[in-house]
Amino acid sequence: MKKLIEGLHEFQTNYVSTHRALLEELSHGQKPRVLFITCSDSRIVPNLITQTDMGELFIIRNAGNIIPPYGATNGGEGSTIEYAIHALGIEQIIVCGHSECGAMKGLLHLNKLQEDMPLVYDWLKHAEGTRRLVKDNYKNYTDEELLKIAVAENVVTQIENLKTYPLVHSRLHQGKIQIYGWVYNIKTGEVLAYDPISHTYVPPQSQLPEYNATNERYRRLPVTSIWEPVSAA
Ligand SMILES: [Zn+2]
Repeated sequence: MKKLIEGLHEFQTNYVSTHRALLEELSHGQKPRVLFITCSDSRIVPNLITQTDMGELFIIRNAGNIIPPYGATNGGEGSTIEYAIHALGIEQIIVCGHSECGAMKGLLHLNKLQEDMPLVYDWLKHAEGTRRLVKDNYKNYTDEELLKIAVAENVVTQIENLKTYPLVHSRLHQGKIQIYGWVYNIKTGEVLAYDPISHTYVPPQSQLPEYNATNERYRRLPVTSIWEPVSAA
């Protein structure tokens, strides 16, 4: 706690004094352009990894970057999504999973979880699609490999869950919303983006509209081998 209180002082002294104009502007309202949905894991810091400032990301965090399907529960996720899209006019959503995700580890060992952490067990029902898909379609992989696969596939599951919200469904129909799936590698700081057409992970910059479509020099990594060093390609 002492570290945090010293941090408050440092923030006041260094950041606030040099960002007065931004803080003044933000005091009149927020206009974040991106809804960033990620895990509660302390090793992911959305503003740091995207080098964005306060006011730029609207964030939902929970164990496993999970979006309960529409109607499954009246929790904070649905209302935050609704607010982001309707009230703030956000048109870009990122679902960001990460390496070494404890929630995904739990998902792969549900029996043990039920006794120790019943609330987490219940929560992970919203990722049952991930568990089932991994169990049925990825045989003969080590636990370590299955965890990476679960992380990558869960991003896809949660994007599908996101699409069950009527407002998201409608905005997708209008072409007024883009949904991106990312995985963040804690060890390297690297991010890969999901490509729904090839069901692989690709460098995020390759998904920018201005990216030269003829430039195919980047690698497409299947979900079984995400986090192989992309930069070495
Ligand atoms: Zn996690």
